[in-house]
Amino acid sequence: MDDCIFCKIIKGEIPSRKVYEDASTFAFLDINPANPGHTLVVSKKHYAELVDITDTDLKDVIINIKKIAKNLKDNMGAQGLNLLQNNGKMAGQIVHHIHFHVIPRFPNDSIMLALPRKNITDQEMDEIQKKMTVQEKKNPQLDWDY
Ligand code: 5GP
Ligand code: ZN
Repeated sequence: MDDCIFCKIIKGEIPSRKVYEDASTFAFLDINPANPGHTLVVSKKHYAELVDITDTDLKDVIINIKKIAKNLKDNMGAQGLNLLQNNGKMAGQIVHHIHFHVIPRFPNDSIMLALPRKNITDQEMDEIQKKMTVQEKKNPQLDWDY
């Protein structure tokens, strides 16, 4: 994607503070961090959102997120971590190249992630559950949509 800022960062056309790179994944410090060590972990291949990425690439990225999370605990003294992944403008996604925010948490860091909750009736919950139920993947070796 020619006009994608994260593709440019991956290619080195825009500088970034890289903390990890391999064949599938690129991770760098967020330019506007919520806390020291706030890291963006991105697939090297351009996919806009979670529903677009292949299972194989997603698995690689999430395993690398685990490494970065461990490092944040071991070397940055994070006492907790939030993993955030925005999909679509409606959900606050600004850069439309799939990325995960790994946000280390420290005592008294003033980050508020408490979500307001909705009252939903049991009947509505039944309907939602019906719509939400998805089939088990038949062949775990293959990508979901293949
Ligand atoms: P989103 O809202 O799309 O989930 O978050 C995009 C994130 O990318 C933001 O936290 C923002 O600070 C970060 N970001 C945007 N442009 C750049 C950039 O050029 N360099 C770095 N390191 N981070 C960026
Ligand atoms: Zn991109």
